[in-house]
Amino acid sequence: MSVLAKRVLVTGGAGFLGSHLCERLLARGSDVLSVDNYFTGRKDNIAHLLSSPHFEALRHDITHPLFVEVDEIYNLACPASPIHYQFDPVQTTKTSVIGAINMLGLAKRLKCRILQASTSEVYGDPTSHPQPESYRGNVNPIGPRACYDEGKRCAETLFFDYHRQHGLGIRVARIFNTYGPRMHPNDGRVVSNFIVQALTGKPLTLYGKGAQTRAFCYVDDLIEGLLKLMGADDPLTGPINLGNPVETSVAELAETIIALTGSRSSIRQEPLPEDDPTQRCPEIGEASARLGWKPKTPLKEGLAKTIEYFERLLAAER
Ligand code: NAD
Ligand code: UDP
Repeated sequence: MSVLAKRVLVTGGAGFLGSHLCERLLARGSDVLSVDNYFTGRKDNIAHLLSSPHFEALRHDITHPLFVEVDEIYNLACPASPIHYQFDPVQTTKTSVIGAINMLGLAKRLKCRILQASTSEVYGDPTSHPQPESYRGNVNPIGPRACYDEGKRCAETLFFDYHRQHGLGIRVARIFNTYGPRMHPNDGRVVSNFIVQALTGKPLTLYGKGAQTRAFCYVDDLIEGLLKLMGADDPLTGPINLGNPVETSVAELAETIIALTGSRSSIRQEPLPEDDPTQRCPEIGEASARLGWKPKTPLKEGLAKTIEYFERLLAAER
């Protein structure tokens, strides 16, 4: 493993994953700079870190160049939930593509390693199941999800071209659906939607029949995977799938959340959004063999912790 990087830049540091990553990096002794434009991230997510002399937060949009001095970069800035990334699709593509160019340019100047938070969405609506890294995907380039999917695909292209052309040390993680405390309560993602609906006694909005599947990874496991990938010795570039390979249908998830919250909420079917992938599950053999990484948190345990978080959040808002 490489020497511990001292100064670490986390773009999207005030977001769901970014805030957990900043916390873990600080805990291991790094100086952390969070860069975020607070589009979907919240200052509340990092408020508890601000008292640390080793943590700084900068408001900045990564579609503009950034001049800072760091030893390592995690590029997480990008809205991740469908309602957020479809709110301003042009900005979403700009963040993925121009943002990647700016962060890669920074890494090139600093000669430092850079990790890209890519996504299982690069596989689109997969025809190969579960998805190995070698699968090239089935993405609709002109649909409503394309701003995110194609933006992230182009970002991967840029990472690999900077690696080949400029010898830059890159790491590309393909992250599958991740959940946990600090998810945005209104981001429309299935775990946060169902939990908030269950806790407030509203019907759980099941899109389609709920037969579509996802594989849900608890945030602490995912962050461990990102840290291992960044720290791994060269020549490991990825892309590497990071996710929990336990597949669950969305209908089963609804039932589980109703049972765990003890809610009396009903389940209400709503139309399936356009281009909603029918199945998704990571093949994690690479991550397991090359990083010694496997998720440890069972779904029910992770959901219980997430429910606790939303209970506190909703109580504070009352
Ligand atoms: P999030 O929306 O909570 O966090 C994204 C952060 O990026 C937010 O704080 C937002 O304000 C910031 N941001 C957006 N555009 C920006 C810009 N132009 N300049 C600076 N900051 C900007 O989402 P998340 O779930 O924490 O996702 C983080 C990263 O991981 C994203 O790149 C996402 O694509 C990737 N990812 C997440 C998941 C998941 O399940 N959570 C799955 C696959 C990939
Ligand atoms: N979903 C649902 N009800 C909701 C929100 C989402 O049934 O209130 C479904 C959605 O159609 C998709 C799955 O849950 O099939 C996961 O959706 P999410 O937005 O969390 O992630 P993504 O589709 O990007 O994997």
